[in-house]
Amino acid sequence: MGKLVWAQQFGRARVAIIHEGGGWWPLERALADIPPDLARAAGVPVNERAQLWIDFNLVHVSLPGASLLLDTGFGEVDPRDPARPLVSVQGIQLSDGRDAALAALGIQPADITHVLITHLHGDHIAGATRLIGGRRLPAFPNARYYATAREWESAPEFHQRADVIAAQKEALQAAGVIELVTEEREIVPGVQLIPAPGESPGHAIVRIDTGADIVYYLGDLFHQPAEFAHLDWIPRFRDRETLVAVRQHLVPRFAAEDAWLIPAHHAFPAIGKVRTAASGYLWEPLEEPPEHRRTGGH
Ligand SMILES: [Zn+2]
Repeated sequence: MGKLVWAQQFGRARVAIIHEGGGWWPLERALADIPPDLARAAGVPVNERAQLWIDFNLVHVSLPGASLLLDTGFGEVDPRDPARPLVSVQGIQLSDGRDAALAALGIQPADITHVLITHLHGDHIAGATRLIGGRRLPAFPNARYYATAREWESAPEFHQRADVIAAQKEALQAAGVIELVTEEREIVPGVQLIPAPGESPGHAIVRIDTGADIVYYLGDLFHQPAEFAHLDWIPRFRDRETLVAVRQHLVPRFAAEDAWLIPAHHAFPAIGKVRTAASGYLWEPLEEPPEHRRTGGH
């Protein structure tokens, strides 16, 4: 599957982006009401079957005294096909996975101190727990978990695997490790969970003040670069009015802060900045030295 993890030091934070896999997504769901030709003209790589490839990424942040995981990924794999997640998203193929990437970074599950969950869609929450001896327990036994209260109350949404998501909620609640936030909140010094709804009712993003650069993990505020130029291009089953308003509010802030942005589903390593152009905004991916480029492919 190619490279599994990308890491770089920003100020006092080591930010690692973990590639969990990728898959084909029908355009009609990825960009509601945008015809293939219009999407292609905007640079969206739509194939002849009107699908586009998206990657699945999550983030680990090391700070002095804290080890934070931002989203949990897919979690369990299909026992009949370990390359596929149990949350059976059609066409998804997994990499060697989150835990292998963490191990490559020198991190064991017990080292994680905080798990911040942007939203309770399967690809972000299903890895929150694991089955141990027939019991469903937090996958990170020493961590506090955080999500917004709004998201917790709203999940699972109708288009999500209710059984999988409900099982995560139950197990985290039973273990007493989940903390629900109702407004912007500093989780550890310099790291804030910021409500940014629309993708889901209580979706949130994470802002990291590294002491040098500002880094944001955006979860699913965006799914692909063309959405920065078209803030009203959004997936199906989302709250359009809310999501567009939230983007219009946040993107100027990202630009003003010259912040590094990490959207969960951009092509790995999924990090870049937003630039202000005459026509609006543009996504500008991080320029990587050749030795960091992902090898292999889909
Ligand atoms: Zn997602």
